[in-house]
Amino acid sequence: MSAPDLGRFIAGFRRFQKSWFCRDHNLFENLVEEQSPKALVIACSDSRVDPALLLDCNPGDLFVVRNVANLVPPYEAHTTTQHGVSAALEFAVRSLKVEDIIILGHARCGGIKTLLSGAAGGRDDTEFLSRWVSIAAPAQERVQESCPHCSEQELHRACEQESILVSLENLMTFPWLRERVEQGELSLHGWFFDLEKGELLGWDAATKTFQPMVRECI
Ligand SMILES: [Zn+2]
Repeated sequence: MSAPDLGRFIAGFRRFQKSWFCRDHNLFENLVEEQSPKALVIACSDSRVDPALLLDCNPGDLFVVRNVANLVPPYEAHTTTQHGVSAALEFAVRSLKVEDIIILGHARCGGIKTLLSGAAGGRDDTEFLSRWVSIAAPAQERVQESCPHCSEQELHRACEQESILVSLENLMTFPWLRERVEQGELSLHGWFFDLEKGELLGWDAATKTFQPMVRECI
């Protein structure tokens, strides 16, 4: 990374500091002791889809997990593997008691592209990536089955959206999370940021489609 970039980031922190620490009223005062976000967002690591920026949120508003392709692996009991996403889910659901979990997917996702290209090319030259995105393999199978004549672009978009549903299904495999959903204390949401149009879509269980929640600018 070049020095001008780092300088820009440090200048950015100064502006942040001015807004949150240097005013008469220290806005961080209440946040120092504890956080109490009401929502957990699971978003992609992609540089274009920062949830706090997209949703215009303040510090303390969102508990966030970011990973390649915004995926949630299924629950694994008594595992010796270290699970970053599962640990974050456990903390958000059991300690913070968030009321909403949003899986925030997006268009032109490189992780989903890796998933689809891996199958098409029949080769895998990644060390971790292909194995990670294989969490969304059920999404790939479903869209290829339901849309055999789709263009590559249509398949990508369908898989990006279907993988959100796979993650929502995987969330429900965590017993303590499922319990809170069934008790009406926690709601799950599938959102999709269309960065081509600048729209936000949401999964509508009634119509089984992603519907615009915020349409593109006119
Ligand atoms: Zn992505």
